[in-house]
Amino acid sequence: MAGDIVEILDALAPLYGRGAYPGRSIEGLSPEWDADPFHVLIATILSQRTKDANTRKASDRLFSEYDSVEELAEADEEAVCELIRPAGFPRQKASGIIGCCRVLRDEHGGTVPSGTEALLSLPMVGRKTAACVQAYAMGIPAVCVDTHVHRISNLMGLVDTKNPEETERALMEMTPRERWNDINRYIVRHGQEICLPNRPRCGRCPVSSHCDHAQSNSGSDGINTN
Ligand code: SF4
Repeated sequence: MAGDIVEILDALAPLYGRGAYPGRSIEGLSPEWDADPFHVLIATILSQRTKDANTRKASDRLFSEYDSVEELAEADEEAVCELIRPAGFPRQKASGIIGCCRVLRDEHGGTVPSGTEALLSLPMVGRKTAACVQAYAMGIPAVCVDTHVHRISNLMGLVDTKNPEETERALMEMTPRERWNDINRYIVRHGQEICLPNRPRCGRCPVSSHCDHAQSNSGSDGINTN
């Protein structure tokens, strides 16, 4: 039987602190990075289908040359492509990021909107990216479901869902609103450090007593206790 989400978040909090948006580690997080919706939005777009280390490299390179909505709206697509190449899919992401910044400049006064519908209307912005911007940059309660959150929530038995959208809805229903932002903060780090995609280290996991996967594998050879 899966555990209580609040107990799980409380157990993970001491390990992972305040967490960070895609591409930022705790160590590399400065207050201005933490607070800036433009940086969070662009970094989260860059993080699509790549790892955090690649996102970080690409976003650092990009922001060293283009560090505002206006600059990116006018940017040369080939130059942006080269800068963000470490994040993969450079052509698609460069075109999307420039297009997104043009919409922000032309329709939102150069700022990132806070509403879900307005965020979802931007190029390259889906539910995960919109929720990340709201949660990390604006302090708006949002459940940001990436592959780690979807995978681990199902492994633990918190949800039984087929896609991230279903997971988002289920987690929103079972979690007090004031804890929504903790879900991505803690579970993504957990997926990167202990509950690894192909070899979860259940023997080191502080929430194994809340986890269906661990319970169903305890005592068998199926559990990895690294
Ligand atoms: S017990 Fe294992 S499968 Fe469950 S959350 Fe922890 S590492 Fe992941």
